[in-house]
Amino acid sequence: MGKRANPMAVKASLTYEVGEAAAALGKSEATIRNWIKDGLPVMASKKPLLISGQDLRDYIRAKSNGAKTSLGPDQLYCLSCQEGCKPLGMSVEITPNNDKTDRLKGVCETCGGFASRI
Ligand SMILES: [Zn+2]
Repeated sequence: MGKRANPMAVKASLTYEVGEAAAALGKSEATIRNWIKDGLPVMASKKPLLISGQDLRDYIRAKSNGAKTSLGPDQLYCLSCQEGCKPLGMSVEITPNNDKTDRLKGVCETCGGFASRI
């Protein structure tokens, strides 16, 4: 593959359709679709798929870190701590991510920040 996608090429406050994300990042739509299969969160399971710029950034960063942080069965990934953490009060919200995966959201026990996992 070519050069790495630049996470700053997308705006965190915007949402992107697959084609828009591909254009912004200089990638093919197929690449973006692979990312979605691989766990990139999408905002709705209906068409057109919308991806939040923030999720895109987080995904690209996580990918380029190469850090497949291994999470325990009761852990979420905290974006602030950059590592697995237990959700505060062990309470999580489950939302469908795409056809195959769900997204768990919670609050990091350590820093109180947003934590999630696919
Ligand atoms: Zn944290």
